[in-house]
Amino acid sequence: MPTITTTNLNETKALAAEIVGLLKPAERATVLALYGDLGAGKTSFTQGLAASLGVVENISSPTFVIEKIYDLPVGQSFKKLIHIDAYRLSEGGDLAKLGFETIESESENLIVIEWPEQVADIIPVGAKKISFKFIDDNMREITYEI
Ligand code: ADP
Ligand code: MG
Repeated sequence: MPTITTTNLNETKALAAEIVGLLKPAERATVLALYGDLGAGKTSFTQGLAASLGVVENISSPTFVIEKIYDLPVGQSFKKLIHIDAYRLSEGGDLAKLGFETIESESENLIVIEWPEQVADIIPVGAKKISFKFIDDNMREITYEI
């Protein structure tokens, strides 16, 4: 599994853009599970990913709304980006109530989940794991299995 050390926010965003370029829709939705402590860079990574997919809206942490859905521009291989922050959830059933099974069954959905450990029982086996580790103020270690 590659581990990359980024030395600033923009490098984390650039890595996200690189990783998203490697993803192709499969039979079901593509799920990225972003692990790591508060401030480790999960939302920043999602911002880089969204920007590279042509999302112009500001991506903020959806902690208080749990889930945000962005339509992707025509021409992208994915049609929707779904950004989930499971920080306030305590089991997969909480996500199921938000219709997770349906969004996860759609091939052209790209689902990014922060705090996947909170809803571990609903994370699909095929989810791609990306782990963020705080090294110092500007440095993060990012390990991914894509
Ligand atoms: P999380 O979603 O994991 O809680 P955020 O992405 O919201 O983390 O916050 C990361 C914070 O760390 C931001 O304020 C960002 O500017 C800062 N930061 C500093 N260096 C980096 C880096 N190399 N990668 C990502 N974020 C960084
Ligand atoms: Mg976050």
